[in-house]
Amino acid sequence: MAGSIYETFGVKTVINASGKMTNLGGSVLSTGVGEAMREASRHHVDLDALMARAGEFVAEATGAPAAWLTTGAAAGIALSVAAVVAGTDPHRISLLPDASFTNRREVVLQAGHQVNFGAPVTQMVRLGGGIPVVVGAVNATSRAQLASAVGANTAALLFVQSHHAVQKGAVPLGEMVAIGRERSIPVIVDAAAEEDLRAYVAAGADLVTYSGGKAIGGPTSGFVAGRKDLIDAVRAQGRGIGRPMKVSKEQIVGFLAALREYLARGEESVVHRNQRSAYLEELLTGIPGLGVGLEDDEAGRAITRVALRPDPSLGLSARDLADRLAAGSPSIRVRGHQASVGTLLIDPRELTPGAEEIIVERVREIVDAARSERRDEGSR
Ligand SMILES: *Cc1c(COP(=O)(O)O)cnc(C)c1O
Repeated sequence: MAGSIYETFGVKTVINASGKMTNLGGSVLSTGVGEAMREASRHHVDLDALMARAGEFVAEATGAPAAWLTTGAAAGIALSVAAVVAGTDPHRISLLPDASFTNRREVVLQAGHQVNFGAPVTQMVRLGGGIPVVVGAVNATSRAQLASAVGANTAALLFVQSHHAVQKGAVPLGEMVAIGRERSIPVIVDAAAEEDLRAYVAAGADLVTYSGGKAIGGPTSGFVAGRKDLIDAVRAQGRGIGRPMKVSKEQIVGFLAALREYLARGEESVVHRNQRSAYLEELLTGIPGLGVGLEDDEAGRAITRVALRPDPSLGLSARDLADRLAAGSPSIRVRGHQASVGTLLIDPRELTPGAEEIIVERVREIVDAARSERRDEGSR
């Protein structure tokens, strides 16, 4: 039975209707990826050689000159910053995250990009020895403000491409790249959950980091792709702060198998998941007291989600609905980023077969119960 391995340890599985959430275990792995990891677990291998080969494979997939695998995008940010601050100098690498050996350790980012993805992005900068310099206001940062924040102490510019970032009033990547080029300062892009593996390298970023466990559908893993000299420096951090971010042979092989499948799948999965959203919307429409619609991804990825908006007359807030869905059995976890404005989202990407019907049944039960409670109160 699905999930039984977790149940043998006394923990229940959940229905993930919220997307590629790290706290729900990222992606469910395909059979091929699972088998690749099991196969990898059965042999010894020279890890340096495996990492080097994996880096070449990722470089090819991203169009970057070089790449290096990491445990995830969070590690990718920390290691990218460490690379620009300490380079390949073994002594400097051994001192991080204390980078008092240099003044050139400021990392400039826009206020609207100062996100928390489960941990603050600025903390990853500090972990790599950087000092975050946050510029502008969350909804308004100008190119001039960024340019004047850049100086002799600037080690890098950091651009966060994410649905977590404020999507208005920001300076586009192209302009940050232009500022970087003018002053010979590397631009690092956090593209953790992005699906286009080439766009940010093509846009001129010097280092780009992705999660392997999000769009690509691999196990907990990730990579940094970019300039050869900087990737050499990322790699060199393995003798420093990179050590507690060590990638296992199973992760490497699982990631590579997932990447291979991801590249082969192409647009096919986009069509499929958005069809599931349309199907789910159809099933949910018509529950009295529940507004239902389709909503495109706020960060511009080709993801369509189902929006649920409980009518205020129900006396059931979006947050209440999310809590009740989570409290049931099986626990259903929806996307709650917009709960405070009355909207819940159902993300199709990680729904296992048959999940739609279970979700519809439970939503109907909860909304019906709220409505009849209201009616009872009204008739008293
Ligand atoms: C998920 C995420 C991260 C962290 O990625 P991991 O692979 O889980 O380490 C970093 N930045 C953004 C914008 C994210 O969405």
